[in-house]
Amino acid sequence: MQIAENLVALIHYTLKNEAGDVLDSSEGQEPLPFVCGANNIVAGLESALIGKVVGDKLDVVVKPEEGYGEIREELVQSVDRANFQGIDNIEVGMQFMAEAPWGQQPVTVMEVAEDTVKLDGNHPLAGQTLEFSVEVTEVRAATEDELAHGHVHGEGCNHDH
Ligand code: ZN
Repeated sequence: MQIAENLVALIHYTLKNEAGDVLDSSEGQEPLPFVCGANNIVAGLESALIGKVVGDKLDVVVKPEEGYGEIREELVQSVDRANFQGIDNIEVGMQFMAEAPWGQQPVTVMEVAEDTVKLDGNHPLAGQTLEFSVEVTEVRAATEDELAHGHVHGEGCNHDH
């Protein structure tokens, strides 16, 4: 069975940046499942996997526009420290969920001043060229629920239903 839209595929992967540093890997863990066509993985990786079968191994270079996007300056903002009441130690590198007009947005603390905190709402991998090495380990039909929800169910599924 070839990977195609509305099928579930499982992959082992290693993700490196252009410098060759390993950023993420499924090594020693379960393979990563995704519903093809449901934006579960970055577009550039998904399009390279279309048509592949179990056992296929490939290296895929994904540019920012097909990965996590370019860095957007407007997503870097300074907010009043009063927004962080109840949090005693705000440190550079901490991550929070913020309310954005389009929903929940993870933000990373860039700077902490006396009255303000500078936050970066860009994805940590925005602006980076990503180098994936992947191996397809399984391709199967998706269940109706998986298609309706746009994600894979089963072992490792960490939500309630
Ligand atoms: Zn679900």
